[in-house]
Amino acid sequence: MSTTRTICLKCSSDQLRWLTLRKGRIPVDVLQCPSCGTANAEEDWMPPLRPLQVGRCWNCMNRREIDQCSNCGLTKQEDVQVHDELRSIVDPTLSHLDAARQASRNGRRLLALKLATAAAASNESGQGEVARALRIWLLSAIGEADHALEDAKAWVEGTQDPSAIAWASYGQQLQASNMTGAAADAYEKALKKNPKQNNIRARRAQLLLELRRGGQAQDEAIRVLSQDGVDEQSVAIASMVAEKLCDHFESEYRDAEISRLLDYSRDYVERSPVLLAHRARLLASEGDLASARRDLKRARRLNPELEIFERVERAMKPSRGSWWRW
Ligand SMILES: [Zn+2]
Ligand SMILES: [Zn+2]
Repeated sequence: MSTTRTICLKCSSDQLRWLTLRKGRIPVDVLQCPSCGTANAEEDWMPPLRPLQVGRCWNCMNRREIDQCSNCGLTKQEDVQVHDELRSIVDPTLSHLDAARQASRNGRRLLALKLATAAAASNESGQGEVARALRIWLLSAIGEADHALEDAKAWVEGTQDPSAIAWASYGQQLQASNMTGAAADAYEKALKKNPKQNNIRARRAQLLLELRRGGQAQDEAIRVLSQDGVDEQSVAIASMVAEKLCDHFESEYRDAEISRLLDYSRDYVERSPVLLAHRARLLASEGDLASARRDLKRARRLNPELEIFERVERAMKPSRGSWWRW
C-alpha cells in the first residue's frame, strides 16, 4: 500500500508534487515541496536502461538464468509481483500501461518507466508497441537520452518490418540527438507506414528546412496545413516552417510561391502574425488595400512588433515617384 505523505514535514504546505531528478547518475522520483524545497519522499527504483528484450528481467533488463535474473536476483515470479505492487501504488484498477501514463502525468517518471517497461515486455493487451514508445520517451525524459536512442534503434533493427510507431519513436530520439538527416529519414519511413501522423510530418518539414531541402519542406508543411482539424502542436510547427519559407521566398522575389503556400494554409493563416503579414503584403501589391489593412490589423493584434510590418506598409502606400503624383 502507498503511504505517500501529503503535508510537507518542514513547512506544512499541502502542495507537494512529484518530479524526477537526478542524483549524480541516478534518476530519482522526489516528492518535493514547492514552498520550501524539502524532499518529503524519494523513490530510487532500478531503472531498466538496457534495450528491451522479451524474456529478460523487467526490473533491470538483464538476462535471466533459467528463472532468476543474473543481475538483480529477482525470479520471474518476483519480477511480476514487484511490478504489480508498483501498479498498485498508482492505481490497482489500471493496467500497467495506463498506470504508467498516470504516473508520468503525476511527475513520477521513474515509476512510469518501470510500468511502461513491464507493459512493453509482456505485450500487455496487445499494446506492447505503444508501451515501448512511452518507455523510450520516458527514458529520454528522465535524462537517459543515450539509452532512449539505443532502445529505439534496437527496436527498428530488431524487427522484421518496423511499424510506424517504431520509426516515429526512433526519429524522435535521432532528432533529440541532433542527427537531423537520419531523423528526417526515419520520419519518412514512419509516414510511409502511416501517412496520417501530422505531428511527425510537421516535424519532418522542420528538419528538411534545417537541412536546406526547402522544396520538400514546403511539400510536407502544405500536406499538414491543407487539412482541417489538425492538432495545435502540429499546426504550430508546420506554420513556423511556412513562415520561414515565406520570408525566404520574399527575399528572392518569389511572390507566386508565397501566394501558393498561403492559399494551401488558408485555414490556419489567421493564427500566425507572420503569415497574415505576408498575405497583407501580397494583397496590397495586388491593390486590395481594404483586405490588406484587415490582415495587417489582425497580425498586429497577435504580435505588435514584426519587422515585416514596415514592408507591408510600404506596399500599401502608392508608389512614390510615379508620374501621376507630380
Ligand atoms: Zn515545505
Ligand atoms: Zn534483473
